[in-house]
Amino acid sequence: LKRYKVVMIGSGAWACAAVRMVAQSTAEASRSPASSFVKDVTMWVHEEKHSGRNLTEYINEHHDNPIYLPGVSLGENVVANNNLIDAARDADLLIFCAPHQFMHGICKQLAAARVVKRDAKAISLTKGMRVRAEGPQLISQMISRILGIDCSVLMGANIAADIGREELSEAVVAYSSRDAGILWQQLFQRPYFAINLLPDVPGAEISGTLKNIVAVGAGIGDGLGIGSNSKATILRQGLSEMRKFCKNLYPSVRDDTFFESCGVADVIASSYGGRNRRVSEAWCKRRMSGDTQITFDDLEREMLNGQKLQGVLTSDEVQEILIERGWELDFPLFTTIHRIIHGEVSPDMILRFREAVSMKS
Ligand code: NAD
Ligand code: 13P
Repeated sequence: LKRYKVVMIGSGAWACAAVRMVAQSTAEASRSPASSFVKDVTMWVHEEKHSGRNLTEYINEHHDNPIYLPGVSLGENVVANNNLIDAARDADLLIFCAPHQFMHGICKQLAAARVVKRDAKAISLTKGMRVRAEGPQLISQMISRILGIDCSVLMGANIAADIGREELSEAVVAYSSRDAGILWQQLFQRPYFAINLLPDVPGAEISGTLKNIVAVGAGIGDGLGIGSNSKATILRQGLSEMRKFCKNLYPSVRDDTFFESCGVADVIASSYGGRNRRVSEAWCKRRMSGDTQITFDDLEREMLNGQKLQGVLTSDEVQEILIERGWELDFPLFTTIHRIIHGEVSPDMILRFREAVSMKS
């Protein structure tokens, strides 16, 4: 009987909440002799210090991650390892959940060490994309291309801390191989976490990525103190630009993808409860009170204790694509958010995004 060894690459807030669910599933399955999974789950930790000792040692002793998901037990069968190559060596199922700016370096290191099994399967939980001279590349495509393995994605309205408390949530597993999708569903599904299968990797992954820009826009609106109608306008326009962008790049993307957790639900959850929203609100308030020097990087350091914002970087990456393809006027909200972030127009232009897109800075 084949038993799959599961490895998590990443140890931030979402990586911890996700590895916890996976470890619950493998522990439960291991009570049956017919289990498809090895009970212990390895988690690669980007090493840092906590209270003067290595975070990895701390996690293995206390079974929680006090920096990124404090107060949540990960499970005794999660084994932290600070050596990326060792961690990935025996993996049959590789889960990638690092901030997107680090994913290329991680994949290159794994490929150079030739440790990834040829028949391993991957899934990406990372929201973000890579922009190259040849055009945009999804993180799942990058994993497949560099490591030569199948890669699904798990995307949804998934605020890590809430899932760590086992609040009702859901996500989609989008797959190219249905067998792989079913396997990932078995691994992630919990009584409090429902998984819908979806044969639309680009639609789910680009939605999950672009909603971070919409959440920045929602945060700017909250910083201005806008009301519910205006915030709903930003969210609706954001969802509509997400769909247009997906379809422009991948005409095969399905309309129903935007009604799934990775679409409208993630826009709502992130625009009310996420980090991009919270930091953008603070940034807007500081700007409007006359602090023109404040940056998102400052606030990320000040407010997030090592967690990483994805929305600002993603806005830069997406804008590069919009400019390159001459699509700026077709994406007035994305373009206005980008111009606000870069100080080209004032934050209150979010309320006039249809005009702001064609104003001279
Ligand atoms: P995080 O933002 O909480 O933490 C940042 C992580 O990056 C830490 O583990 C840190 O050790 C690591 N790191 C720092 N420097 C690094 C480097 N040079 N190389 C590699 N790693 C480094 O992380 P997260 O919340 O798990 O986010 C990972 C992905 O999951 C992101 O794409 C995010 O958009 C997505 N996501 C997050 C949430 C959430 O609620 N946090 C929910 C859904 C999806
Ligand atoms: P933030 O990074 O803005 O917290 O968003 C988390 C997320 O992706 C929720 O689905």
